[in-house]
Amino acid sequence: MIQLSERLLTMEESATIAMSRKSRELKAAGKDVISLSLGEPDFHTPDFIKQAAVEGMEQNYTTYTPVPGYDDLREAICEKFKRDNGLKYTKDQIVVSTGAKQSIANVVLSLINPGDEVLIPAPYWVSYVEIVKVAGGIPVIVSADIHSNFKITGKQLAPHLNEKVKMIIFSSPCNPTGSVYNKEELKDLASVISKHKHITVISDEIYEHINFVGKHESLAQFEEVYDQVVTINGMSKAWAMTGWRLGYIGAPKAIADACSKIQGQFTSGTSSITQRASIPALKKDPAFLNDMLAAFKSRRALVLKALQEMDGVIVNEPEGAFYFFPDISSFFGKSFNGTTINNANDMSLYLLEEALVALVTGEAFGAPNCIRISYATDEKTLTEAMRRIAEALKKLN
Ligand code: PMP
Ligand code: GLU
Repeated sequence: MIQLSERLLTMEESATIAMSRKSRELKAAGKDVISLSLGEPDFHTPDFIKQAAVEGMEQNYTTYTPVPGYDDLREAICEKFKRDNGLKYTKDQIVVSTGAKQSIANVVLSLINPGDEVLIPAPYWVSYVEIVKVAGGIPVIVSADIHSNFKITGKQLAPHLNEKVKMIIFSSPCNPTGSVYNKEELKDLASVISKHKHITVISDEIYEHINFVGKHESLAQFEEVYDQVVTINGMSKAWAMTGWRLGYIGAPKAIADACSKIQGQFTSGTSSITQRASIPALKKDPAFLNDMLAAFKSRRALVLKALQEMDGVIVNEPEGAFYFFPDISSFFGKSFNGTTINNANDMSLYLLEEALVALVTGEAFGAPNCIRISYATDEKTLTEAMRRIAEALKKLN
């Protein structure tokens, strides 16, 4: 009889991945499902990146790689951090991994002992809480709602910081809310965090380039917290490289060394071909991404207008990433055809069955009044999805 570990049993399946699996299964069964569940750009990887991969193979970059990544890749990452974020990292502070997801897991497993607390502002990205649980850590949630644009302040954070809290994990631009912390807001958080030198912050900046309000700001830019911050980034989102699997960290050297050690036992370095392909992308001027950004901006306007026109839906304008996170709690208690909506899980299932639109419940992101809509798809599909959602919501009473 197979007995799974307690570690595994306390962990939830990723809701984003579960929902996209469900919609794939329904599509395979012939249902006309529109999937707005997975946070994955619908663009293709740019040709110059594919070309670099081909060249990498032709040059026989096909063997095991150094665990933290090729030297010239890590140098390109240092340059990128300096160019885009004003951050000074040396090569030995960079570790390249099989996606930002692994980068985050490496850092958590390197620093968290069983019983340590990890503060996670909600709404949060699904995997933070589950990775912390696998490490034996205790997630402590501090919530912000739609009326504060889902952002927390230093004042809100301060009373939660104590000797037991070893880490804070957050993203900006945020998955699932699209919120972006500006420089003053980050400075405010930094001034509180710097008073607790035993705390490390994972600043997940993977949506850096999908920002509609201007320059991306990194937490590590503030000297008072530089040695407390691990900056996470990766190729998946801006460069449409979700399947290639490359994430990276800029971190204090001791943390980078720890992550290399863990990775050396778990996975070794990420794919040689992916690493070769990522070098020219990191060296490219990010202005290259302007067309993609314009497409996301136009889609954002389309979905915002549609959601604003739906009675009972509270929505804010996200400043980055490619998600909407509307509050749909005004529908709780309403029914259609014998189905009553009591929470966001019910709502996401109702919309899947009644509207054939797959979304993700806010419960998975620590926000039970909301649902997450990924708008990383074309405008025709988005228009049809919004029409279906509006129609299904109108039926509830
Ligand atoms: N952080 C956030 C906030 C994300 O949305 C994702 C989504 N994939 C990741 C990290 C992980 O990215 P990847 O592993 O593809 O680099
Ligand atoms: N990060 C994306 C999302 O939130 C991809 C899925 C995942 O990695 O969990 O949908």
